[in-house]
Order: sequence, then structure tokens, then C-alpha cells
Amino acid sequence: MVYLPQPLNLLIDELAKLPGVGRKTAQRLAFYLVNDKENRAEALAKSIIYAKEKIIFCSVCFNMTDSDPCPICTSAKRDQKTLCVVESPKDVIAIEKTREYHGLYHVLHGAISPMDGVGPEDIKLKELIVRLQQHDVNEIILATNPTIEGEATAMYISKLLKGTGIIITRLAHGIPVGGDLEFADEVTLMKAIEGRRRLD
Ligand SMILES: [Zn+2]
Repeated sequence: MVYLPQPLNLLIDELAKLPGVGRKTAQRLAFYLVNDKENRAEALAKSIIYAKEKIIFCSVCFNMTDSDPCPICTSAKRDQKTLCVVESPKDVIAIEKTREYHGLYHVLHGAISPMDGVGPEDIKLKELIVRLQQHDVNEIILATNPTIEGEATAMYISKLLKGTGIIITRLAHGIPVGGDLEFADEVTLMKAIEGRRRLD
């Protein structure tokens, strides 16, 4: 084991816990931050704490925001009667990038997965139902991922809303099965929204 000062080891340990950062990268980043003459370390540490303090979830759509309700929910330019249901805030970013969608969102924060012990009560589904009781919605676009869990969740919601008169649509194929929405390119995602099909 190569000797490293304890504070440096601690920093490497923490960096290595980040998604996509291996031990080697963590070491490289730690050396960079400690030796950086422009003191980016302090700015980085401050911005992490600032983001952590300021970022909350919108109480209406559960997307990440620094004001509640979020700018999408309060925008007069958005179609208030169309809801796009997604699994994570990252999916909102992916769909917003297409500039093709002008409705509102509902972020579930997960998908139904009996294998992992995630049931309908573990995601923001109750909140979706309450929202639909309080607001007039014409169409719900089920934009959960094309994975087993995403499909199961889409099916569950479409059954739940059967008979409500709300048009239920599902994103068209084109997004690779098993893939994540956030990794789909903008054109593919745009076409998937345009070609959405009715489930009922
Ligand atoms: Zn919102």
C-alpha cells in the first residue's frame, strides 16, 4: 500500500463513492484539487453545499427546483392540461432538450419493481392521483423508461386511470428497449414524443 497522508486518503475515499468515478480517477481528482493554485477546491466545496441547500423538489410535479412550485408548473406558456409522467428528474431534462414538449411533468422518483421491493406506494403515484383530482388534465403521456420496470409502471398507471376520460399515451418505440430516456438522443426522443400512441 502506497503511503498517502490521511486527509488525502479521506478525499479520495469520498470522491470514489461518486457514480462513475473509479479509484484511479478519484486519486487524480484529489491530487488536482489539493495542488490547484487557483483554489478551485473551495469554489467546488461551496457550490456543492449551495446546491444541496437550495435544491428542493417541486410540491406539484416533484421535479428538482429552487422555487416551489417550479418554473415549469407556474409557466403561463405551458399546456396545463397535458402531463408527461417520467421516472426521474434527469428524464425531464432529456425531454426539455427536445424543445418539442410544452406540457407539464410528473416525476415518479422510481418505477414499480417487485424484484427490488418497490411497489406503487413507494413512488409518487398517490400524488399523481391527487393532482388529477384537483386539476383538469386531458392527456397523460407515460414516458417511463422502456425497461421491464418502466413498462410495468406504465401499464399500472394506464389501468388505474381507465375510465377517467383522460387520454393515456405511451412514447413510441425508437428508444432502445432496456435503455434509459436520459441517454436517448434528442431526435430519437422527439420522434418518440411525436409518435406516441394511445393505450386505452
Ligand atoms: Zn413543478
